[in-house]
Amino acid sequence: MMNVLVFVLGLVVGSFLNVCIYRVPRKESVVVGASHCTRCGRNLKWYDMVPVLSYILLKGRCRFCKGRISLRYPAVEFLNGITWLILHIIFGLSVWFVISCIVVSFIYCILFMCILKAQQS
Ligand SMILES: [Zn+2]
Repeated sequence: MMNVLVFVLGLVVGSFLNVCIYRVPRKESVVVGASHCTRCGRNLKWYDMVPVLSYILLKGRCRFCKGRISLRYPAVEFLNGITWLILHIIFGLSVWFVISCIVVSFIYCILFMCILKAQQS
């Protein structure tokens, strides 16, 4: 049961990492401002932002403009969720678990920012 909880929490934090990966290089706030489609600019509803699940239900397309949503979003969410789960299995609920989760998520964030930057240039 705890493993499921850790995995879901990892997915949710992964979703926040996506926000950081997209907004930090653009010097936008990661706290203020609703999430929107990068193509049509329309604000997303909460049910369009359920990690991994929304992507599958929407078949990887925006609800409004049907524009493709990058596979990067569910990939980052899933990667973060599965990593947290593995770390929980290794360390159990401990200080090391919390520290390693923070470090790994931070590294994923930087890594995907670099990948995105490399793709754009
Ligand atoms: Zn759209």
